[in-house]
Amino acid sequence: MNTSFSSHSLPAPNMPAAIGQTPLILLRKASKITGCEIYGKAEFMNPGGSIKDRTALAIVNDAEARGVLKPGGTLVEGTAGNTGIGLTLIAKARGYRCVIVMPETQSREKISFLQTIGADLRLVPAKPYKDSGNYVHVSRALAEENNWVWANQFDNTANREGHRATTAQEIWQQMQGKIDAFTCACGTGGTLAGTALGLHDAAQCDKNRPPRIVLADPEGSALYSWVKNHTLSVEGSSITEGIGQSRITKNLENAPIDDAERIPDPEALAVIYDLLSEEGLFVGGSSGVNVAAAIRTARALGPGHRIVTILADSGARYESKLFNKKFLQSKNLPIAPWLIHP
Ligand code: PMP
Repeated sequence: MNTSFSSHSLPAPNMPAAIGQTPLILLRKASKITGCEIYGKAEFMNPGGSIKDRTALAIVNDAEARGVLKPGGTLVEGTAGNTGIGLTLIAKARGYRCVIVMPETQSREKISFLQTIGADLRLVPAKPYKDSGNYVHVSRALAEENNWVWANQFDNTANREGHRATTAQEIWQQMQGKIDAFTCACGTGGTLAGTALGLHDAAQCDKNRPPRIVLADPEGSALYSWVKNHTLSVEGSSITEGIGQSRITKNLENAPIDDAERIPDPEALAVIYDLLSEEGLFVGGSSGVNVAAAIRTARALGPGHRIVTILADSGARYESKLFNKKFLQSKNLPIAPWLIHP
């Protein structure tokens, strides 16, 4: 009998204490085709199902420490969904109220998940950031009108500091300080910037070379051009959710980013289908973009390198899009082979 299983440390005294300490998984196919070792940090294993549990916890801890969030207080946030799930669950565990403002274009799985867990959900039409009806501005206005605490994940650097203190340090320890590159997409930029800064901190501490930091950008986002030539310009569009950005958020400012890859949806989808059929890993769109960028980075660096990326959430959050034949056909996108003739 094989009795090996991953060892978790001490019991967690409550749900928020169980956020983080996620496994780092070798992605065998991506590694094999590049001659490198490519690892995915399994953030879909967090209690709320995504990397954004870490952001939510860091923001709540910071607001408590600053004394602005008090027992029985109310938090409000604009989110593509995952931060809203994390905040709603942490608010329950800590005894706060939580109001979530979300564009109605997000996947119906995330909307129904939030409704199922009893979130106070306010859906708004999708509007560009410059429009006052944009979900971020609506959440800020609600905070101001009601004297609630605005989580402000885009420009509140407690977000990236959380990743700097946890995600980065876990990766450094799991890789035993031997990591050549880190690839990651941006929504708020908290994961990329915080992990990059934390990996630089750890490398400096160990008198080691920091890994190459590569932004993974979907089409329809302005960050690729910002990294490549310091302009914010957009090309194409993407069905991925929670990633892509048209401005430099406070979380992104001065992040040590070395390079960028722009990943078209068909490339990300092919990776997502491979991860499922070859590795048994069921992940969402941003994870596909992240792993595709890791594969490109591995090819650019050559065989023998060790690259880490983020598996941000589960494919279950996007069944109606990424695993829906009709939807994919309507967008002229590749369909998972097993869904073509089920
Ligand atoms: N992937 C998913 C699935 C997300 O929900 C988000 C956040 N919206 C990101 C990636 C981007 O993370 P960050 O906000 O830290 O840049």
